[in-house]
Amino acid sequence: MRVFLGVKTQKLISRVFVHPVNQSAAVRWGPPQTRLSCSSSPDLEKPPHSMLRHLTSKIKSTGPISVAEYMREVLTNPVTGYYVRNNMLGPDGDFITSPEISQIFGELLGVWIISEWMGAGRPKQLQLVELGPGKGSLASDILRVFSQLQSVLGEASVSLHLVEVSPTLSQLQAQNLTGNTSQEADSEDEPVYRRGKTTAGLPVCWYRRLDDVPTGFSVFVAHEFFDALPIHKFQRTEKGWREVMVDIDPEKPDHLRFVVTPSPTLASSTLVQADERRDHVEVCAEGGVIIQQLVRRITEDGGAALIADYGHDGTKTDTFRAFKGHQLHDVLASPGTADLTADVDFSYLRRMAGGGVACMGPVTQRTFLKNMGIDTRLQVLLRNCTDPNTRKQLISSYDMLTNRAKMGERFLFFSVLHQSRLAKPKKQDGLSLEKKKIPAQLPVAGFTELSFS
Ligand code: SAH
Repeated sequence: MRVFLGVKTQKLISRVFVHPVNQSAAVRWGPPQTRLSCSSSPDLEKPPHSMLRHLTSKIKSTGPISVAEYMREVLTNPVTGYYVRNNMLGPDGDFITSPEISQIFGELLGVWIISEWMGAGRPKQLQLVELGPGKGSLASDILRVFSQLQSVLGEASVSLHLVEVSPTLSQLQAQNLTGNTSQEADSEDEPVYRRGKTTAGLPVCWYRRLDDVPTGFSVFVAHEFFDALPIHKFQRTEKGWREVMVDIDPEKPDHLRFVVTPSPTLASSTLVQADERRDHVEVCAEGGVIIQQLVRRITEDGGAALIADYGHDGTKTDTFRAFKGHQLHDVLASPGTADLTADVDFSYLRRMAGGGVACMGPVTQRTFLKNMGIDTRLQVLLRNCTDPNTRKQLISSYDMLTNRAKMGERFLFFSVLHQSRLAKPKKQDGLSLEKKKIPAQLPVAGFTELSFS
């Protein structure tokens, strides 16, 4: 169905698009690689055994651990965690993400955020909160759009808040966003562990947890964040649902293996839906908690959340996997040296969000970006670009982001909005809307088809 998106969002899009931004950087890398095809990270080869030692001693003292605990330790252990120690993003890392492939991606998300801020009635404050900001490229592209649309944002006080568990990546983000002028907190207990000002002069703060971000009207962005959160795995057996755990292989003491618990665990009794039809399910309880925190904030302070990740709508079973050196890797081998990930179950996130907010999507990345006007943006960049290599890269990165066989359909966009955002304006006193001049709601960009007619 073709839906008229609203003049305001169209104007925003055309204002960004008629001024090509940073053309030479429109494509950041050469042949892009996603997690479907990764390159190895030499840093990760050095201390692979410390994580394995840590895990085996933990299992020896307390028994098999849940897959969620395994994933949490491997990825975010404060000393040896994969994310904590490494910069795994980009051509020299283990995988590359959409914001790293092309700046167009972040620009379109920037337009989405401003459109939602306008849809909320242009509040005086706009907090941009990014969960898991990687190298800071997405935030940087979004902020550049904010600068271009400064006249639209007017006097609104804009600030950036980054939720990042990795000190290594937070340093990189600080370099990219503040040009190394940020300062670390004196004490480790401070909720804000780093602060600074972006090159455009906006305040930026770093937090370890979403809970530490101050309240206020916020737009939350999470790109490839939820897939890195720990999942529990459950297997249907003749005796009912049982949890899959990680144990030491008795035949090879320096190897790990999966086992199924003989009796139900607290997680298997509480996290599997009573009417579940699949034989194997993965549940990201931590993702559910984070969604509920977002819902509470959006309900109380206003705002919106945009979540983009690879995932499904409650249909897939075993998606837990690891990536290392161009290939899929055994999830239990050399823990800490490979990225662990699981597809995001958007039906679970929607269920956890509950009825107090409006949820949109998931829609495919291809649909979202096309609705946001990626084709027009590409044409503008191509029109202004004469260098054949840059033109080739622009086209190949566009293809990577939108092609159904590449990232176009694997990645999904989902949004949580304040309930009032989609509410129809009420007719009053029997008068028509035209007579009362009640403004129609601005449609939610990206989730409805854009029409310039
Ligand atoms: N959004 C970026 C990076 C994705 S990688 C991009 O798309 O390019 C996942 C990011 O989430 C990294 O920055 C990682 O350090 C961070 N992260 C992973 N688990 C986290 C957690 N539990 N809390 C906060 N940040 C986390």
